Amino acid sequence: MSDHDVIIIGAGSVGSPTAFFLAEAGKKVLVIESLKGAGQGQNKAAIGGTRATHSDPAKIQICLASLDVFSNWKEKTGTDIGWKKGGYCFPVYRENEQTILKGILPIQKRAGLTIDWVEPERVKEVVPGINPEGLLGGTYSPHDGQVSPLMASESFYVEAKKLGAEFKYNETVTGLVMDGNSIKAVKTDKGEYTADIVLNAAGGKATAICKMAGVEIPVIPDSHEAGISAPVEPFLDPLVVDLRPGPDGKTANFYFGQNHEGQIIFCYTPSELFKGENRMCTSEFMPVIARRLVTLIPRFKNLTIRRLWRGLYPMTPDGVAVVGKAPGVDNFYLGIGMCGQGFMMGPGVAQNLASLIINGKPVLDDDVFALLSPERGFYSGKKEALK
Ligand SMILES: Cc1cc2nc3c(=O)[nH]c(=O)nc-3n(C[C@H](O)[C@H](O)[C@H](O)COP(=O)(O)OP(=O)(O)OC[C@H]3O[C@@H](n4cnc5c(N)ncnc54)[C@H](O)[C@@H]3O)c2cc1C
Repeated sequence: MSDHDVIIIGAGSVGSPTAFFLAEAGKKVLVIESLKGAGQGQNKAAIGGTRATHSDPAKIQICLASLDVFSNWKEKTGTDIGWKKGGYCFPVYRENEQTILKGILPIQKRAGLTIDWVEPERVKEVVPGINPEGLLGGTYSPHDGQVSPLMASESFYVEAKKLGAEFKYNETVTGLVMDGNSIKAVKTDKGEYTADIVLNAAGGKATAICKMAGVEIPVIPDSHEAGISAPVEPFLDPLVVDLRPGPDGKTANFYFGQNHEGQIIFCYTPSELFKGENRMCTSEFMPVIARRLVTLIPRFKNLTIRRLWRGLYPMTPDGVAVVGKAPGVDNFYLGIGMCGQGFMMGPGVAQNLASLIINGKPVLDDDVFALLSPERGFYSGKKEALK
């Protein structure tokens, strides 16, 4: 007899909502987390963008499910998680981005996303003050939004706990005890626990946990910097993504939004990725992103910046998450490799993992879910268009 139905390793963007959905379905869940609380890993580094605007049908449908959870959470539980339905806008100034974005619209619409190409006048309405020079238009997906990652993870934890899930903080998984092709026990620095099923939701440490069960899955962290301003009067509804590389030579795309408290929150993708786990802030981030922000929206020159930080994207070689049953181990499941979208994918991934564990079937259609399969070829060179 096992102590628990499911042990989840990691109380992050994926682990905490999965604990909630499993507990809601009556499962006896134990979550083991190295840090002092839920969402204290890379979850809290996220700027809280929650969009179903992707180019891959699996991500689109997972994130549509997440948006459903986030947008109805307050009604369901009574808890505010900072949900703001402002949409996502990708303004376009070059034919290159226009061709890419228009090219993926049919895939996005087929997968159920509400999105359209809009003319420059509409972009200027949804992004007040945007630089009009050379603006060709853009895409706008009005049902996307933003959520506070810390408020959400705390609430998933509280609600899961009410349903009987147990959380052990400040405790680190150090080994998996194997019995042939099954995990017999989970060893930590404080004890040993048994469960019928073990779920790896360990974010940037996922590869090390996989290795404990003899499974090889490449999740390689790289680090990204972000910042937040003091609050200003609400004026910006959508999160805005500028896909152009910067003239600085340092940046690929950059993105920003105004959160539910009025703060402008922003981030860029460096043109050369910082591989590894170094989370020290750099001196170049703020001057580089300030120039990009002010060039795109000149009124940003008045912002006061409050805080900067750096966190990790748990990356896979093809930029797509790994969700499903681990190959070769009977009772081991994976919700890992979330790349730069783990917060927005969390609840949708959680619902699919809960359904897979309980019913043997994901919520998504099998052919769509297969795009996230741990058994796919990781080095096919496939790259998503939208990061
Ligand atoms: C600057 C920045 C901005 C971002 N913005 C967004 C955004 O707007 N929207 C979005 O969707 N995503 C965003 N992301 C990405 C997002 O933060 C990650 O994809 C997501 O948090 C990963 O979720 P996870 O559950 O896999 O990992 P985590 O949230 O890190 O959770 C994994 C947990 O496992 C625990 N753990 C690891 N090893 C062990 C062990 N051996 N024993 C016990 N516990 C263990 C860790 O402590 C951690 O808490 C951003 C990331 C960065 C850095």
